[in-house]
Amino acid sequence: MYDIMYRPRTLSECVGSEKIKQLLKKRIQTGHICDRSLLFSGPKGSGKTTMARIVAASIVCDNVVDGEPCTVCDSCMSMNYDDSTSVYEMDAAAHGSVDTIRSIVDGSSSLSIDGKRVVLILDEAHRLSKSAQDCLLKPMEDRRLMVIMCTTEPHAIREALRSRMDEYQLSYPSRTEVCDYVCSVCDKESIQYKKEDIKSIVDNDQCLRTVLSGIHAAVVTGTDISSYVNAMLNVAEYETIANAMSIYESDNASCISMIDCVVTSHGPAWVSDAIRHLAISVYKNNRGIRHSYKSRIPGGIDETSILSISKAISSIQNPSAIDIMVCLMKTTPQQDVKSSLKLSKTPVSDIKEIKESAKKTFEVDGIKFTSDETLTSIDHKIEKGNKMKDEKQENKYVTIKKDTNNARQLNEQQFRDSLLKRIRGQPWSGS
Ligand SMILES: [Zn+2]
Repeated sequence: MYDIMYRPRTLSECVGSEKIKQLLKKRIQTGHICDRSLLFSGPKGSGKTTMARIVAASIVCDNVVDGEPCTVCDSCMSMNYDDSTSVYEMDAAAHGSVDTIRSIVDGSSSLSIDGKRVVLILDEAHRLSKSAQDCLLKPMEDRRLMVIMCTTEPHAIREALRSRMDEYQLSYPSRTEVCDYVCSVCDKESIQYKKEDIKSIVDNDQCLRTVLSGIHAAVVTGTDISSYVNAMLNVAEYETIANAMSIYESDNASCISMIDCVVTSHGPAWVSDAIRHLAISVYKNNRGIRHSYKSRIPGGIDETSILSISKAISSIQNPSAIDIMVCLMKTTPQQDVKSSLKLSKTPVSDIKEIKESAKKTFEVDGIKFTSDETLTSIDHKIEKGNKMKDEKQENKYVTIKKDTNNARQLNEQQFRDSLLKRIRGQPWSGS
């Protein structure tokens, strides 16, 4: 709601893109704004549609002041209420069929019923079909229609059209600009906040609209901004992962169990991203570069080790919970830091690639594992460990048999399920 309430209505109110704002103001002031149609390109949330509406308002406004729409005349007000007879706004993704565009083009003369220029704003213009784009060529050329296109993919607009428009490439306003704007909205709405919290939100998402609607959602549900930020950014979960990694070397089993808790609540894909995020942040942190990890980075995280883990996890497309666990088990800090930083996106269908590492042992539920275990040998040990527990034998650990030929083979899914159950301390069903 705040995103709508505080949507800029003049160029001066828009956040960022200073040069483009100055150029547009000058064109409006000198009466050259309608010389050519316009194309606003830029990422989602960079203010394309907002700017398109302001320019359209300045074209139909009865009382342009300093290159800006007055915002109060009938024409400006009618734009606010979406009932302007001169300005049409259309989402090309939903309504950009050739028939719709043709009916607008055929029905439009150079002036609307109240004698103003007809302006057509096309949102998501890259979704216009080729034939719909063709329809716009002629009216654009003879200036019957003032077209303002907004798109994230300007390359998808036909060259014939693009060359007939002036293109303005918008970019995100700086974090400071977004942060200051959000704080000013909070002040106007008498919302209590800490600037640090607003900074954290903006670090996470620079899109002003998303940030403002998030804050509005928090306010209407009676959530204070700090709690909202913590929940939205999953600060507690990031903290758990950072803490788990800080004890990875000293207490591998606890580390795996902590990670497993977050895997259960947030899913393996989220956790794998968070670990990669942590690796990069640790690397930056150690060099005094600003990092964006969403919680405190504890001491004790071995940089080489976390980078190796991160690299191993990145090499698996859509990692499962067990992939993450196995990566943690098998990764040792013996890898080249530089190559680790190049987080390879190459999908690796299995985990054989990371087998090359020094042996490490760790213990889960009284059973010792080494870092070079095969699926079969892990399964074998789990099975044997369970059997021995049942027989109430005192000997806690099971010696690894070199020959695992007799071990019952599980398929990968069964193995994954079994190991996860073991890690979570659930009884192992053996199937
Ligand atoms: Zn006006």
